[in-house]
Amino acid sequence: MTKVTIPAKEIPLIAEADLVVAGGGSAGVAAAIAAAQEGLSCILVEKSNCAGGMLTNGLLPSIIYMSDGRNLLSGGLCYELVKRVSVEMGVKPDIYWHNINPEAVKLVLDEMLCENKIRFFYNMHCFDVLRNGPRIEGIAVSSPQGMGVIKGKIFVDATGDGNLSALAGVPCEIGNESGEVMAPTLCSLWSGVDYTKNNISSGLGRREWHQAEENNTIPLPEHHFVGFFRCGNGIGCGNLGHEYGCRPLDADSYTQACVHGRKQIRTYLEFFRKNVPGFAHAELALTAPMLGVRESRRVCGEYMLVKEDYYERRHFSDEIGCFAYPVDIHASSSNAEEQSEVEKTVTATQYGKGENYGIPYRALLAKETENLLLAGRCISADRTMQSSIRVVPGCMITGEAAGVAAASAVLKNCSLRSIDIAALQKRLSQRGIYQKI
Ligand SMILES: Cc1cc2nc3c(=O)[nH]c(=O)nc-3n(C[C@H](O)[C@H](O)[C@H](O)COP(=O)(O)OP(=O)(O)OC[C@H]3O[C@@H](n4cnc5c(N)ncnc54)[C@H](O)[C@@H]3O)c2cc1C
Repeated sequence: MTKVTIPAKEIPLIAEADLVVAGGGSAGVAAAIAAAQEGLSCILVEKSNCAGGMLTNGLLPSIIYMSDGRNLLSGGLCYELVKRVSVEMGVKPDIYWHNINPEAVKLVLDEMLCENKIRFFYNMHCFDVLRNGPRIEGIAVSSPQGMGVIKGKIFVDATGDGNLSALAGVPCEIGNESGEVMAPTLCSLWSGVDYTKNNISSGLGRREWHQAEENNTIPLPEHHFVGFFRCGNGIGCGNLGHEYGCRPLDADSYTQACVHGRKQIRTYLEFFRKNVPGFAHAELALTAPMLGVRESRRVCGEYMLVKEDYYERRHFSDEIGCFAYPVDIHASSSNAEEQSEVEKTVTATQYGKGENYGIPYRALLAKETENLLLAGRCISADRTMQSSIRVVPGCMITGEAAGVAAASAVLKNCSLRSIDIAALQKRLSQRGIYQKI
């Protein structure tokens, strides 16, 4: 590839804080809020115009598996978010499967960031890292005002794609042995649904699609049908279709997936109108501003969660939380058999009531750096474990723990690797992350 040198430039230092969080998705927001509540000054940088990431811009339909059936595993900020969003939506919080309205989430997250006095910037993109040996000193950001630097004592990579870690040169893994990742989905918001004609609010359309599959009449070669989810009066989100073969870190491939996803959703709409009760007058209101990327970089940390940790329900002396969502590796290719296996694996790997695995603190400590923590989808995990931890409650547990760990290091003036783990665990327990139901 031809390389071009950009002339060196002096750019302004625009802000400084104890903790700087890159990425304002569910994990980044949890990290910033937790750290602020523990006494740190915090800055959060988000490239879109709202917080939430996949929860808002991605139009994902539900927050799932906050509980293992006996324990609330994400009883801290995730549960607070669900409770506050429920009030906005006028529904009861559901700790197993809570359908969300993305606008309610945007509003609540703005409020939570403001209440906790976090300095947050939307429409600001982190594009480089200022590194001095093993220490990150700052991040370079761009906004319509130009470029600038934000300095901090500790940084959290909550970009989902592990962008900050990659910019800092931390080793990362991507996908399977061939680098193929789970296919993304461009979710969508529909209006005009008549829910009086359907007695379920999650997974709508699944029965009809499978029926059509048996009759060989499906309009698209899709054999892993997630479905449509109610999120308000007459509206709902579709987690429909996959962008098989997409490489989400490649700009061309990402672009093609968005173009194809927008086109393909019309076929789903047509199918629903004709086949699913209550959808005869449904309209497509919006396709997601953000492509739903399930898997991209998995950043290497001091410990990498591996599939045996899932199957053996392992726990760790330095664990910062527990989780229990099953193994959910969506297919990468358009191979029908591979697609059909996904739902079977989810069912087969489902834990029993009260069973869970531990998430070690070391999985949040990015390798080869002193002051970089990982939170959310990009934490240190193999594919199997990433497919479990990647759902919102898992991301928020790691975000909240990263924020509390950062506070522990800054306030005790010690490194991230020498914080008092027992004290961290005690604090997380006081925050109510893990509770008996
Ligand atoms: C299609 C789909 C459906 C899903 N359905 C569900 C579901 O029903 N329930 C569930 O619980 N989970 C679901 N998940 C999983 C879950 O939504 C995500 O894995 C999780 O929300 C990831 O959270 P995160 O904070 O790690 O990353 P994200 O939500 O991706 O947030 C990362 C944020 O970082 C920002 N960012 C990235 N790079 C930069 C940069 N350089 N500078 C500034 N900002 C940056 C992005 O704009 C984004 O806001 C789904 C995932 C997909 C893809």
